[in-house]
Amino acid sequence: MFKIPETHPRYGSLMKREKLVAGIEAGITSKQGLIAHGRGEAFDYLIGERTLDSAMRATEVAAALLLAAKKPVISVNGNVAALVPKEIIELSDLINAPLEVNIFYRTEERVRKIKELLEKQGARKVLGDKADAKIPGIEHARAKIDHEGIYSADVVLVPLEDGDRCEALVEMGKKVITIDLNPLSRTSRHATVSIVDDVERATKNLISAVKEKKQKRKKEGEEKSVSAWEGYNNKGNLREVVKEIVNRLKEKGLI
Ligand code: ATP
Repeated sequence: MFKIPETHPRYGSLMKREKLVAGIEAGITSKQGLIAHGRGEAFDYLIGERTLDSAMRATEVAAALLLAAKKPVISVNGNVAALVPKEIIELSDLINAPLEVNIFYRTEERVRKIKELLEKQGARKVLGDKADAKIPGIEHARAKIDHEGIYSADVVLVPLEDGDRCEALVEMGKKVITIDLNPLSRTSRHATVSIVDDVERATKNLISAVKEKKQKRKKEGEEKSVSAWEGYNNKGNLREVVKEIVNRLKEKGLI
């Protein structure tokens, strides 16, 4: 990995690029994943590379939804595996959800490599290599999922998903949580809860929110988390995201 000096003003952003390049060299990230990351970076610039209040609200709701789930599953693609393997494994342990390798440009070799990487880093259950079920309405290899995993899950966390699959998962009756820096994407607009934030910040925040809610539950001995997401207005929250972006640009005198 190229050595970036920590004093560089764009250290965090450059490190993410290095991790993705290393992911390509290791055969876990696709070249198209780099382009997708670039689109995300552009939105992160507009957001100010920090977590918006609206994103934090969505994160809290997502944590409640994951804790209330009967069968949660976390989907992992090549960018997620390169950028946040440790965080995603910690989250899966906390909510007792398996990870499922689910990639857009599917090759069995890449699925195997991502699975191996996650297992090497301590993941207890990684699905995705059986691919014995399909998402209805999606064509070709992109439709492949595991019966034991995403197919039978009630809540799915799909960081960096594409719009088609997100919509199809919602149509299957699942609650879908996405992490996507683009508040205008089809993914963000179709999901049950869209966290408009960088995947690294969002997974760290999700871990903290889940831990906090679990602590609270233990103390108060109650199971209130179901009501925390009922009636959540995802489109309304996305409007708040756009407002926060516009307000920031106004404050900076840019518009
Ligand atoms: P859609 O099909 O949902 O309209 P899309 O075609 O842009 O959108 P993809 O290209 O499949 O979707 O996925 C890339 C998405 O992931 C982009 O919307 C981008 O904003 C987001 N993204 C990329 N990198 C990150 C990241 N590090 N953190 C959060 N989101 C990211």
